[in-house]
Amino acid sequence: MATMESLIGLVNRIQRACTALGDYGGGDQAFSSLWDALPSVAVVGGQSSGKSSVLESIVGRDFLPRGSGIVTRRPLVLQLQKTEDGKEYAEFGHLPRRRFSDFASVRKEIEDETDRITGKTKQISPVPIHLSIYSPNVVNLTLIDLPGLTKVAVEGQAQTIVEDIENMVRSYVEKPNCIILAISPANQDIATSDAIKIAREVDPSGDRTFGVLTKLDLMDKGTNAVDVLEGRSYRLQHPWVGIVNRSQADINKNVDMMAARRKEREYFATSPDYGHLAGKMGSEYLAKLLSRHLESVIKARIPSITSLINKSIDELEAEMDHLGRPIGLDAGAQLYTILELCRAFDKIFKEHLDGGRPGGDRIYGVFDNQLPAALKKLPFDRHLSVQNVRKIVSEADGYQPHLIAPEQGYRRLIEGSLNYFRGPAEASVDAVSTLILELPSIPFLPYSIQYLVITVTEQKIVDQVHLVLKELVRKSIGECQELKRFPTLQSTIAGAANESLERFREESKKTVVRLVDMESSYLTVDFFRKLPQEVEKAGNPGGNPRDNTPASQNIDRYAEAHFRRIGSNVSSYVYMISETLRNSIPKAVVYCQVKEAKQNLLNYFYTQIGRREGKQLSELLDEDPALMDRRLQCAKRLELYKKARDEVDSVAWVR
Ligand code: GDP
Ligand code: MG
Repeated sequence: MATMESLIGLVNRIQRACTALGDYGGGDQAFSSLWDALPSVAVVGGQSSGKSSVLESIVGRDFLPRGSGIVTRRPLVLQLQKTEDGKEYAEFGHLPRRRFSDFASVRKEIEDETDRITGKTKQISPVPIHLSIYSPNVVNLTLIDLPGLTKVAVEGQAQTIVEDIENMVRSYVEKPNCIILAISPANQDIATSDAIKIAREVDPSGDRTFGVLTKLDLMDKGTNAVDVLEGRSYRLQHPWVGIVNRSQADINKNVDMMAARRKEREYFATSPDYGHLAGKMGSEYLAKLLSRHLESVIKARIPSITSLINKSIDELEAEMDHLGRPIGLDAGAQLYTILELCRAFDKIFKEHLDGGRPGGDRIYGVFDNQLPAALKKLPFDRHLSVQNVRKIVSEADGYQPHLIAPEQGYRRLIEGSLNYFRGPAEASVDAVSTLILELPSIPFLPYSIQYLVITVTEQKIVDQVHLVLKELVRKSIGECQELKRFPTLQSTIAGAANESLERFREESKKTVVRLVDMESSYLTVDFFRKLPQEVEKAGNPGGNPRDNTPASQNIDRYAEAHFRRIGSNVSSYVYMISETLRNSIPKAVVYCQVKEAKQNLLNYFYTQIGRREGKQLSELLDEDPALMDRRLQCAKRLELYKKARDEVDSVAWVR
């Protein structure tokens, strides 16, 4: 059996945890609110309707701030706990472990704490003040005192104050778990009661509204409130309770609360109008009624509170996993985290290259489409046109025309042709600039600089592959979930990876150009030896091709067919080289760029990071502040729900 103490005490403890961990209910929609799920009793009513007086007489102590204007400017969560040892004291949630046994200083602290949040500006704030009162004269009960509803703002108050108060009060009473203690003064027409007006709005059936009628003693002579108290004027599911608090004169005379309670009891017992209701009137009766009701409501709500707690814990754990757990503060843990994150990124990058993820195939696309296309575009036709061949061969011959085959001419033609391969091979803008600088020293360069520039810039095999790799780095960074929370590390890794790619590109370029240079430095002799000689074509097909007889000298060496043949021989040779390069350039590029990227992308970074100090490491693990904040909030809520779960569990043991 759960006792009354244990149930209301349970809610009290969870409420305190809520406030300590920032759950005030309402407003912040970022989390489900445990506060809102807890049953509570909120005191509502117009200014001077007697709210504070009712609370004080329930407690049996003078402890609330008094005065004109809006005195209550923050919700006051008043948790009453009955003590058996006769001790009486108060404690504030914001001042744990400090016991107040003088209730005048409790009042002072409420005033000071109100001002701490709202300033002296008479603003209102939804952040509650928690006050626990331990006393032999109370029943276990939790009540929330709210600012009184007003009709007009007085001097010094913002115009919006009337609306602000109403909204704050509404935010409490509209919760289905809120029990509304609606206070109306008996010396006013019930039809004009602010409390009833707002209660009717949020609880039209009157299920969770307790009507309280104060100031019965102040009613005009000859009138009474029996119609209201017996539920005929305004019907509620619970019975109305009439109250007689201390008058202002009593307060001025310092009539003590115990005397006031006695006086109230006497009033009802001897009243000709209310005598028949006496057992169900007065503040003591009200306190018991509320306590019993609150207890039954809590009991009914425990299963749904438990399931809310469990659901929220699951959700928060999941979100914490998603946000990533906080990182250790020491350099070792930080270095470990950074390396783990680098590996996570590197793994994704490799998957892109190896084909687990898309993108690596684009490198093959460069080899399979762009390289052959680039080779095809080289202007060999023009370079090996009859006119140009004639020009180059003649220039190579000098004053003495060649006798058999124009060895020098061939070499120059081939050298000139192979030079074009440098384009697609190294091909980058800087390659263009060097070529332009070298132009005057290449004597037989036949075509306009412009043409060359276009040819070269269009063909950037090494650069194309570089771009693909860079894009894959960018993609992999974006796809690395673990890295998302560390924007600084993200850009650092991207920077380090791109720096490496830059180095690989340079290496690749050098190697590819070297391949072309190798082709130019030694020509395949066999190819030329196997060429059929012009001699046979001229009329001696059966003869030994290498045997140049004087008959061949009859041929006009300078006829067009002669140069066309030279051009076509060079062209076949160049074609053969082109095929070789088409096969070997991809190998060089993969060896220097792709394979390096796959194996050593972050190696240089690793050697550097090991040398960094703790401070530099934590800078790398700098997180997005919004994310850090969210994690902190999540952790706080998680702590709250776990605390609450423990509390509920401990009561479940008693049951
Ligand atoms: P609040 O503004 O709603 O908190 O109202 P208070 O509790 O401060 O009461 C306003 C004034 O009405 C005070 O001077 C109280 O003494 C007086 N008052 C409240 N209830 C009663 C009552 O039942 N009888 C008499 N005679 N005066 C009351
Ligand atoms: Mg008050």
